[in-house]
Amino acid sequence: MLGYNWLIMERQTVKLQGFNVDTFTFEEALEYITEKHGQVVTINPEMIQYAQKNQDFANVLENADMVIPDGIGVEIGLKILGYHVRRIPGVEFARKLIDKFSEKSLPIAFVGAKPEIVEKAVLNVHKENPDMNVCYVQDGYFKDDERVLKELGESGAKLVLVALGSPKQEFFIKRAKELLPGAVLIGIGGSFDVWSGVVKRAPVIYQKLGLEWLYRTVKEPQRIKRIFPTLPLFVLNVIKEKFGA
Ligand code: UDP
Repeated sequence: MLGYNWLIMERQTVKLQGFNVDTFTFEEALEYITEKHGQVVTINPEMIQYAQKNQDFANVLENADMVIPDGIGVEIGLKILGYHVRRIPGVEFARKLIDKFSEKSLPIAFVGAKPEIVEKAVLNVHKENPDMNVCYVQDGYFKDDERVLKELGESGAKLVLVALGSPKQEFFIKRAKELLPGAVLIGIGGSFDVWSGVVKRAPVIYQKLGLEWLYRTVKEPQRIKRIFPTLPLFVLNVIKEKFGA
């Protein structure tokens, strides 16, 4: 008789600088987390470097239910180690999660960004997806975490989109997950800014070439500090990792 095990996907992680990264394709990741629930981390080199200095954040990464390679930096790092894993942009992944949860009218919560941004983001996504069932909307500039966590827990959300920037969003989700055990919770940085229409994603050609970071840096030069020296240092460390230096 056939068992059920073959139906349940297993995580397939590889270690990058000591941290787990899942090697799922976009579709597999979508399927896995919809079944499994829990915390999704969209990881990038900055987060890995922060986790190397901060044990609490390292623990969050260790205990996440799925870690997807959000940016080109992680894709390059994995390639150096010999793993050909395509990146999964958090902004696209979250948008697909919304569609998937909306098919079943499951309640969705939005937490993060400036008040007018999150409202516009919800409106825009709702226009594209009229079946979306929004149960909670909260901007990201609250002082009272306990209030927001309580309200979120009571909202009964099954999908929680948190756009507070990292590491704030990952720490917030870690706590929210305890209150919503059957939910998928994902940290998605500046995604509400994109959905609101205020920030444009790079043209597709930049995305395909893995140069979205370059486009964003030209548009927002203050981001340069986030790329240099982080990205080259990260690549160097991964090379050292590969050769055991
Ligand atoms: N943000 C927030 N509360 C804060 C700090 C930031 O809601 O206390 C929001 C900010 O408005 C923006 C997002 O978090 O929408 C962070 O975007 P960023 O581009 O830094 O994230 P990335 O995608 O680069 O991680």
